[in-house]
Amino acid sequence: MLNLNDIQPICIAGQWRPGAGDRYATLYPATGEAVASLHAASVADVEEAILGADRAFRTSGWAQKKPHERAAVLFRVAQLIRENGEALAQLQRLDNGKPISETRNLVASAAATFQFFAAACETLEESLTPMRGDNLTMSVHEPMGVVAAITPWNSPIASEAQKMAPALAAGNAVVVKPAEVTPLAALALARLCIEAGVPAGLISVLPGKGSVIGDAITLHPLVKRVSFTGGTSTGKHIAHIAADKMMPVSLELGGKSPTMVFEDADIDHAVAGVLYGIFSSSGESCIAGSRLFVARSLHEPFMERLAAGAAALRVGDPADERTQMGPLITARHREGIERYVDMGVTDGGRIRTGGVRPKGPAFDRGYFYTPTIIEGLRNDQRICQEEIFGPVLVAMPFDDEEDLIRQANDSVYALAAGIWTRDYKRAWRVGRAVQAGNVWINTYKQFSISTPFGGWRDSGLGREKGRLGILQYMEQKAMYWGLNEQPLPWAG
Ligand code: NDP
Repeated sequence: MLNLNDIQPICIAGQWRPGAGDRYATLYPATGEAVASLHAASVADVEEAILGADRAFRTSGWAQKKPHERAAVLFRVAQLIRENGEALAQLQRLDNGKPISETRNLVASAAATFQFFAAACETLEESLTPMRGDNLTMSVHEPMGVVAAITPWNSPIASEAQKMAPALAAGNAVVVKPAEVTPLAALALARLCIEAGVPAGLISVLPGKGSVIGDAITLHPLVKRVSFTGGTSTGKHIAHIAADKMMPVSLELGGKSPTMVFEDADIDHAVAGVLYGIFSSSGESCIAGSRLFVARSLHEPFMERLAAGAAALRVGDPADERTQMGPLITARHREGIERYVDMGVTDGGRIRTGGVRPKGPAFDRGYFYTPTIIEGLRNDQRICQEEIFGPVLVAMPFDDEEDLIRQANDSVYALAAGIWTRDYKRAWRVGRAVQAGNVWINTYKQFSISTPFGGWRDSGLGREKGRLGILQYMEQKAMYWGLNEQPLPWAG
């Protein structure tokens, strides 16, 4: 079983030892107390990890294993995640303050991800392409070598699994850079991968500042691909480096997703779905439904029910099974959210509910904030356009479908959208017209590992998940197998 003391050294190409970077403590967002104290990676550690990963890629035999043999190891990782499920869920609760009910789901999803990519690995078929001459033609895939996964703090373990599982399934070595504030789940996952039989040198977990460690990883010539999840400005920075190296990247970035409620919606479902869409994970979710559009005729009664629902959400101790919203990740992040709420009010918005820190001894030390709904703003105002990444919903009425689509698509982001209507033809029309990588109809924030995920425009590039997600971590190769009985005519 996992023990917190075991996971405090970092992992440098399979070697567990303190990083050579600064010592720092991770904090429990619900109380501000230190959880773990660890030495971050240094740039020299990054160099050592990547050289070690490259060596392990070339010598460990992992890439040469038959797919079903690699799959068996990944399946064992899934089993170990499940066997250690409660310890991992509690660890992640301490790492980022999410409610325990949510971290249990994330751990289950990490196990399912390894299981899924074990199957994808075992069943991946290469293709024999139609012959157009005296050559047998094939398209095959090869592992890339050392690939990097850079992840944010909001869904540790699930984010890391989503990148590590396909990268390992494809036969690569993987260097993980978790967010500095939430390194523990990635370190624990690395231990389980190695225990399951992944050659140790293939795995590195390098906590530390993104601007130092993340840059050193991205710039390194032996790193052949970066899979990044995080903010749009960091994503663009990584894309620039990748362009100079001619390196493929996938970028899962921010969002400001519209949720649209039509007058014929099932109101009970829509209220519950809108609340879940914005306030689960304390709104610290790239796909949070943070812009609400409600049909004008329904606007006031709907807002009344929504505000009552938001005010009744159980904010509090993440260890309590009944808690729906835990604290925000850091004190600084909460201050940023408060500045956005102030800006909304200065710009003419009205706070319908929330907009304050909850009061009482249970909230004094943690970074809590109440579920907040702001009305009276236009879609082109700043807090309706910028990603707040917290429990703040802006709500606006719409007049007709054309007006709605125009407003919904008026954003630099295009990650997700929600539609609430009983009219299936309208759901189809609006679902096709809204610009977003993911559309939910009469539901929200549902995921499946078998369905590719990603964003358009400033919300990202490339897709993760899906059976073919494994190919993102492979190079494609055409093979021509000459069957001519005669020499090539030019030479002959
Ligand atoms: P950041 O972009 O700041 O950080 C994400 C990761 O990138 C962290 O590990 C960070 O390290 C690292 N990083 C920072 N600077 C660099 C750099 N120059 N080079 C390489 N890596 C770097 O995002 P946040 O931490 O603020 O995360 C929240 C963001 O993530 C939100 O915008 C959200 O929308 C997005 N997100 C997107 C998802 C999606 O699937 N589309 C899912 C979840 C979140 P460190 O923090 O240690 O400095």
